Amino acid sequence: MKAIRCTKPGYLESLDLPEPEPGEDEVMLRVRRIGICGTDYHAFHGRQPFFEYPRILGHELAAEVAEDGAGFKAGQTVVPIPYLECGECPACLAGKTNCCRNIKVLGVHVDGGMRELFPVRASNVLPADGLDLEQVATVECLAIGAHAVRRAGVAAGEWTAVAGTGPIGIGVLHFARIAGARTIAIDINPDRLAHCRDVLGVDACVDAREDVVAQLREITGGDLAAAAFDATGAPPAMEAAFSYVEHGGRLVFISVVKGQLSFDDPLFHSREMTLMGSRNATRADFQQVLDALRSGAVDISPFVTHRCEFGEMIDHFEPWSDPAAGVIKAVVSL
Ligand SMILES: [Zn+2]
Ligand SMILES: [Zn+2]
Repeated sequence: MKAIRCTKPGYLESLDLPEPEPGEDEVMLRVRRIGICGTDYHAFHGRQPFFEYPRILGHELAAEVAEDGAGFKAGQTVVPIPYLECGECPACLAGKTNCCRNIKVLGVHVDGGMRELFPVRASNVLPADGLDLEQVATVECLAIGAHAVRRAGVAAGEWTAVAGTGPIGIGVLHFARIAGARTIAIDINPDRLAHCRDVLGVDACVDAREDVVAQLREITGGDLAAAAFDATGAPPAMEAAFSYVEHGGRLVFISVVKGQLSFDDPLFHSREMTLMGSRNATRADFQQVLDALRSGAVDISPFVTHRCEFGEMIDHFEPWSDPAAGVIKAVVSL
């Protein structure tokens, strides 16, 4: 079986591995599409803390079931939920499997899906019938946004501001719109803002190279954001986001960065702000994304910007990781 492994930072190698044997609780998947994620690029560049090498990357997967079993039919299109939760810790018992204390993420803590055959725990595999493989490869990435929106309890009519309009921010904007919110995209990149305005149809755009708060006040008639999300991965942007939130509002950090952040406590306190982390996604979020793709509420045709075959992936990987390449989502076929 062909596989691509990250041996050490900066190196991807093509391998021929023996066919894996599925365990008793696993279903054998034939991987058909792999979405490339910021996490994969960070791992490749050695910027992912606590990452161990060598590692087979890849957690945004569209697959077909290779053999009948565990309630699945051979050939059926499926999406694996790449977060292997323990089922026993306090978070799992509270239904928050996305932030399990003992979580193992496929392609991060254990080997992922950059290979032809991949046995995955059957309880982590969802049917994705009725969708094409490229749509299925975007489900995990979009589920991160769906989860953040669910977590913030975004309500119809609320001004919802999203800083950082890469693939995660775009997912947040989609699911905020579906929740009926009025959406504002914030970015330093004018091309990304143009995409949000012209393709996603956001209600307003904010150029983060200028005074963000002044622009938000103008857009909202002085009210700022009822819910603000950070998907920038940039500490200064995360710290600035406290000032985007209206009194009584919520601030959600999807970004994770090394080190500490600071904020102005009088501002935080006087607005009685709620600060939330948002990590991964749950089965309900995956299901919501599958439904939104099936109904056409989310169209991924402008989202997938780059494609290649598995055999060409190593050559494309590093160039794709350069922001100047204009990649929103790259998808590999096999
Ligand atoms: Zn991802
Ligand atoms: Zn757990």
